[in-house]
Amino acid sequence: MRQLTRIIRNTALLAVAAIVVLAGVLLLNAFTHGSRQIQVSAVPRVPIDQQAAAARLSEAIPFKTISNFLNPEQDAEALHGLQAHIAKSFPAFHAAAKREVVGGYSLLYTWEGSDAKALPIALLAHQDVVPIAPGTEKDWQQPPFDGAISEGFIWGRGSWDDKGNLYSMLEAAEQMAGSGFRPKRTIYFAFGHDEEVAGQRGAKAIAATLASRGVRLDFVLDEGLLITDGIVKGLDKPAALIGVAEKGYATLVLTAHATPGHSSMPPRDTAIGMMSAALARLEDHRLPMQIRGTVSEMFATLAPEMSGFNRVVLSNLWLFKPLLLREFEKSGPTEATVRTTTALTIFNAGDKDNVLPGNAAATVNFRLIPGDTQASVTDHVRSTVNNGRISVEPFPGNTDPPPVTGTSSQSFRTLNRTIREIFPDVVVAPGLMVAATDSRHYAEIADNIFRFSPVRANSDDLKRFHGTNERLSIDGYADMIRFYRRLIENTAG
Ligand SMILES: [Zn+2]
Repeated sequence: MRQLTRIIRNTALLAVAAIVVLAGVLLLNAFTHGSRQIQVSAVPRVPIDQQAAAARLSEAIPFKTISNFLNPEQDAEALHGLQAHIAKSFPAFHAAAKREVVGGYSLLYTWEGSDAKALPIALLAHQDVVPIAPGTEKDWQQPPFDGAISEGFIWGRGSWDDKGNLYSMLEAAEQMAGSGFRPKRTIYFAFGHDEEVAGQRGAKAIAATLASRGVRLDFVLDEGLLITDGIVKGLDKPAALIGVAEKGYATLVLTAHATPGHSSMPPRDTAIGMMSAALARLEDHRLPMQIRGTVSEMFATLAPEMSGFNRVVLSNLWLFKPLLLREFEKSGPTEATVRTTTALTIFNAGDKDNVLPGNAAATVNFRLIPGDTQASVTDHVRSTVNNGRISVEPFPGNTDPPPVTGTSSQSFRTLNRTIREIFPDVVVAPGLMVAATDSRHYAEIADNIFRFSPVRANSDDLKRFHGTNERLSIDGYADMIRFYRRLIENTAG
């Protein structure tokens, strides 16, 4: 009996000791990793004529540059109008830079640098916008294509995505060119006209033009991740995420082949039945969630800036990874950062109630996290479906995730520093861009690709992106101009 008591006591002591050690390890991991934020001194805030700048951007909104994949000429007139407005609005820049039209409607400006040996850089934005979802026009507080200025905001489709970036880049360049600045290295301003429909005619053509001239870019900066406030759990400060990685895109068409026939004597395997089973299996066996590469670097960068339990969790992924992933799986946006997503988007089969169709077809769209490829996803689909009578074919235009940009380069550090100079209250971290941008077309000619928009957004703002009541604050717009100006100074001054 006494021996049993001793065993129980020793076991209890051991358990307590294990808990103490574990707590010690967790806290040690959480609180010994210092901040990775670079220290910068504040720069003087350049004066901006906010009202005049806002007015110019607001005048760009009424040009309905809604791109259409099947009908590229649909917005030709609007693009011409927008381009005339751009030329009129920024005369000093137009005097300093060479302007070319590429791919019919895309714009490529070359602001020649004084040092021919320095690698050029490229600032990207797009002229086109997405349409207004039918039926939502009445929900807009200001008409979507009026370009109203009200309550401290510029309202309308494109004010944020992406005419805001395009015009603020040019405002910065105009100011600088007007005061006699000449860049040391060449700066390209590349403005595609069909980003919202894959950029095949615009960005792709510009990148091909530069490649044909033997241009090699130090970096490309395109629209992308934002400065989000109150969105990263456990982080009190706003987070500026620089997209150093982007997901790939793969659409696969599955076709089930069966014998067509009369519905009075159905066989065991019908086209619709086989396809339904295959799609159910694909949804049940989604690709695994992973924390690796950019996403794990993002966590490691954000963790030291956090407080409380979230900091302990993010600093101890060796233990809490399953918990974190379960949490991430609960919402679409967070799940998309840790997994190659599976989305069933089109289903077609049958056209008569008493006839068995000879085939059934379904389209499945995957967004690939870096590390996955079109080939690996196709293998996953074939082995999951596991049915020789179902063929799997890729859609044209699929792309693997572009190469991940490293965070140890000089240009990453310069971009990081510039963000903290203009937005001193934010935490900067690398991040994964879940949507596709024009920048992927530059992968062949750029050493570094960054996807970042110097725009502050909270969760209410995020709904406006491609949505209803898109708008941009005038104060925020002035900071965007300051940001691009400072970036040009820091990289080409
Ligand atoms: Zn955009």
